[in-house]
Amino acid sequence: MIFSDTPGPVALKALQGLSTTPFWLDDSRRPAAQPVLGSDTSCGLLVIGGGFSGLWTALLAKRAQPSRDVLLVDAGRIADAASGRNGGFVSHSLTHGIRNGVDRWPADIDQLVRLGHENLDALGQDIELLGIDCDYGIAGEYVVAVQEHQVDDLRDTAALANAHGDTVIELTGEQMQAAVNSDSFLFGIGDPDVGLVNPARLAWGLLDACLASGVRVHEHTPVLDLVDVGKRVMAATEMASITARQVAIATNAFPPLLRKMSKYIVPVYDYILVTEPLSREQWTAIGWDGRQGLSDAGNQFHYYRPTADGRILWGGYDAVYHRNSGVDPAFEVDHAAFARLSEHFHQTFPQLDGIRFSHGWGGVIDTCSRFAPFWGSAHSGKTAFVAGYTGLGVGSSRFGARVMLDLLSGHGSELTELSMVKSKPLPFPPEPFRSMGINWTTKSLHSADLHEGRRNLWLRTLDKVGLGFDS
Ligand SMILES: Cc1cc2nc3c(=O)[nH]c(=O)nc-3n(C[C@H](O)[C@H](O)[C@H](O)COP(=O)(O)OP(=O)(O)OC[C@H]3O[C@@H](n4cnc5c(N)ncnc54)[C@H](O)[C@@H]3O)c2cc1C
Repeated sequence: MIFSDTPGPVALKALQGLSTTPFWLDDSRRPAAQPVLGSDTSCGLLVIGGGFSGLWTALLAKRAQPSRDVLLVDAGRIADAASGRNGGFVSHSLTHGIRNGVDRWPADIDQLVRLGHENLDALGQDIELLGIDCDYGIAGEYVVAVQEHQVDDLRDTAALANAHGDTVIELTGEQMQAAVNSDSFLFGIGDPDVGLVNPARLAWGLLDACLASGVRVHEHTPVLDLVDVGKRVMAATEMASITARQVAIATNAFPPLLRKMSKYIVPVYDYILVTEPLSREQWTAIGWDGRQGLSDAGNQFHYYRPTADGRILWGGYDAVYHRNSGVDPAFEVDHAAFARLSEHFHQTFPQLDGIRFSHGWGGVIDTCSRFAPFWGSAHSGKTAFVAGYTGLGVGSSRFGARVMLDLLSGHGSELTELSMVKSKPLPFPPEPFRSMGINWTTKSLHSADLHEGRRNLWLRTLDKVGLGFDS
């Protein structure tokens, strides 16, 4: 099936009355705000950013050394950015999929696969240990072919994954449609070791755990500047300054505090819809008995999953870059993107005509040219940073946090020796070439999806230099 981007009346009607609050944040369990930092202070470790990367960093630092004085600040609210507005797929992959990992770090890939599964196991154990009520479970994920040419690609991916220690199965079109009923599914591969979570509740649970272990947390406290002052780093906020022995930067797609990070990441907006709860008849019509997540295999792909209260979350496809690496809450609402998503949903599940979407929102993704996180240090090793998850950081941000702490420790570790940790992505060019390149890539990917996956000269050139975007 080639998705039509022109929304029909059914798709448009389904969006009437849409709330643009992210579904996960529209929750009575959302905690009250932590206080703004109002006076100068000092700390052992300052964590900047209260998404998953920052929360895990603070929590794991305290766990390793309970006496460490850890302070976490966020410019807004904990979980309001990507960590509370994502699809909730918790992948074991640290490398944005096996193919990307094999291409970029062939010597380390088996180790990276092992570390990825260990990271996912540890994340599940932490959720249990800390008693975080976030609907977490290992549900598995299918990737489905909706066009004939995608079948061989998926077969290759499954073979590659299995050759490196994963256990991915193949499903014929019939088997795939028996699992989840859409005529558009021609083939599928299934990875059993993928979790699904309510991401905001996970982040809020991690916040509780941080507070319980003695981390000081301040919301609505943006760090405006970082200065090396010898044995310490000084962070300026709007109302106070923080003198820190060490700093961990976990600011994701937001304007980086270190100039040297800027060239490696571009903020890209992605969109999600969530339906009203389905009736029993509607679930029967699509036969989706398991709680698996799904995605399709296009360059511009959709991801979809059930929620604990019986809705379907449906996101992806558009990846919108705004000139000059623009980040703005106004970009989180894009009615044209919502209409396309609704149309594609109805093309996939025509049995659900008449269903309404209750929530639709967007979020910003820290895209880098290798699609997987990178790390670095500054201020003579007193500061570490991580960014670049490129839309797959719910699980790997726990690993990202561990690497930052290992970098700050000053001692080498298994993690700091990985070539993935030691290397950086290729930088993006400055404007206007940045916009031109990204927009031309997006158009080319769209065109490839319309023409049986055929990649034009531009995409083939990017592939050759290791910039082979697939979304
Ligand atoms: C729509 C969407 C869908 C996604 N779906 C998935 C998925 O299904 N599975 C998956 O694995 N990944 C997914 N992702 C990606 C995933 O959400 C992110 O990789 C992950 O949440 C990143 O966490 P983080 O802590 O690094 O960043 P964030 O959650 O963005 O947190 C960064 C924090 O830093 C704060 N900050 C920024 N600048 C400053 C400053 N100067 N001072 C103080 N604080 C600052 C911000 O306020 C923010 O709270 C998705 C992302 C989006 C947007």
